Amino acid sequence: MAIQIMPDAAAHLPFYYGSIARSEAEEYLKLAGMSDGLFLLRQCLRSLGGYVLSMVCNLQFYHYAIERQMNGTYAIAGGKAHCGPEELCEFYSKDADGLCCTLRKPCNRPCGVDPQPGVFDSMRDNMVREYVRQTWKLEGDALEQAIISQAPQVEKLIATTAHERMPWYHGSIARDEAERRLYSGAQPDGKFLLRERKENSAYALSLVYGKTVYHYRIDQDKSGKYSIPEGTKFDTLWQLVEYLKLKPDGLIFYLREACPNPNMPGELTSLSAGKSRLLPMDTSVYESPYSDPEELKDKKLFLKRDHLMIDEVELGAGNFGCVKKGVYKMRKKQIDVAIKVLKSNNEKTVKDEMMKEAQIMHQLDNPYIVRMIGVCEAESLMLVMEMASGGPLNKFLASRNNIVELMHQVSMGMKYLEEKNFVHRDLAARNVLLVNQHYAKISDFGLSKALGADDSYYKARTAGKWPLKWYAPECILYHKFSSKSDVWSYGVTMWEAFSYGQKPYKKMKGPEVISFIEQGKRMDCPTDCPAEMYALMQQCWTYRWEERPGFTTVENVIRSYYYSIATKTENGPETEGKSKAALP
Ligand code: AMP
Repeated sequence: MAIQIMPDAAAHLPFYYGSIARSEAEEYLKLAGMSDGLFLLRQCLRSLGGYVLSMVCNLQFYHYAIERQMNGTYAIAGGKAHCGPEELCEFYSKDADGLCCTLRKPCNRPCGVDPQPGVFDSMRDNMVREYVRQTWKLEGDALEQAIISQAPQVEKLIATTAHERMPWYHGSIARDEAERRLYSGAQPDGKFLLRERKENSAYALSLVYGKTVYHYRIDQDKSGKYSIPEGTKFDTLWQLVEYLKLKPDGLIFYLREACPNPNMPGELTSLSAGKSRLLPMDTSVYESPYSDPEELKDKKLFLKRDHLMIDEVELGAGNFGCVKKGVYKMRKKQIDVAIKVLKSNNEKTVKDEMMKEAQIMHQLDNPYIVRMIGVCEAESLMLVMEMASGGPLNKFLASRNNIVELMHQVSMGMKYLEEKNFVHRDLAARNVLLVNQHYAKISDFGLSKALGADDSYYKARTAGKWPLKWYAPECILYHKFSSKSDVWSYGVTMWEAFSYGQKPYKKMKGPEVISFIEQGKRMDCPTDCPAEMYALMQQCWTYRWEERPGFTTVENVIRSYYYSIATKTENGPETEGKSKAALP
């Protein structure tokens, strides 16, 4: 399955044709009758995320480029900015504002015709995939989760540094050195390289044609776009190269064969230097320590006590005992761990509970869930987990953008649990631990249950010490717990996060909350919380579980919003806001 990295803002429009040529657009307009104001929208090949508006007036065709600006808005050159292509078309249907006439009739796609995927769509997806695969050496699910959770950040990295990892990029070499490299070995037409020019830190393209090397300057305009003189402008160098492979666009020949850089480093570590911040994949807890086959050989539920060093530092406490910091010695490495130590005077039931928690955690392996390393039975029973040193989410409060990113990660972890048929039953901000400001993991599986293969819910025989304010009506009324009731808790957790860690339902007591919900009331939108995010909370608080969305939907909704703000803000979602509480 190909992952759509950035949602195409026009994908849903019936008059959007995707990546079709100008001539094809004109064919469609002809077929639809050539009336004044007949129009369609297509993808622009030149600029990332841009469109072309093709229309008819007086039996003539007009094509207007719609550019996506740095701030994420869309505009026709000289025209007003709009927040999306749809809004732009709506505007021009009321006011020609410089166009040949107003947009009067959409030329909708004929039945059965889908928007044409663009060359950049698949290229961009592949670039992101390859970039993540090579940079973090990930495969399989770990790779997919990294792509989904960090696509906006990775796209930005690629846009600025991707050319550096291309074999055709030779860095800063002189013109004669470029010629020497191109003349060595075979010299087919279209053999090329790209180099940095020492003079003004611009770039140049050197190309073989008819056994002669030609050099082209690459200009960068004020907005940072690249082009060969008089040529098409592109957001990135790799796009320029990819385009010139398809079309010479003023060159003597199109680009055909990369002249590989002999000094290309095998490990492209220098690239990471340009990274603005740590991504989840950069941390040691993104993948399981047992993802290394060597380490996997030693994987057992029970750990040897002499491999475990326990610090006196306490990370937290609960009614079971305390959580201590420690180090666990593996075959090849030592890892930081958090150790849940049972009180020494523990009764058998508490011990059993901890073993149950361990059995659950043992079956889970996801980047957005705190992993268990194992249990250790020594001076007391201990549950050894990966370290998430940032502390719980409700104690850490940062910018809103950040919250969307973290809550998206929580939705990914919950979607994983839902797929594995586990119910968490205690999802709350206090149980979302941070690895760092941009990386959250779900923890505390003390109440969690694995559902039977044919069961969609777990029925508790008796009510216990339950976090009622986080529980859906069916949990309280019928003791029925499912992924759908976890979705309800997810809504409450979102509310906590967007209200910077306030307590839900203010001073209300559990039973009061129940009647509040029964009356159809719900918590208000936290101050300054985006409407889209409050709408999602309300969906999570759908009274009937049958009508409540599952985590697949929740993850999709929050992902779309997260990507949309990531493309709108120039700096992406990593923009740091004011932090009320700093992380260590
Ligand atoms: P718990 O009873 O599981 O909620 O743990 C109590 C407290 O211990 C939490 O609020 C955290 O501050 C800390 N803690 C628990 N697990 C971890 C972990 N894996 N990494 C770091 N701190 C943890």
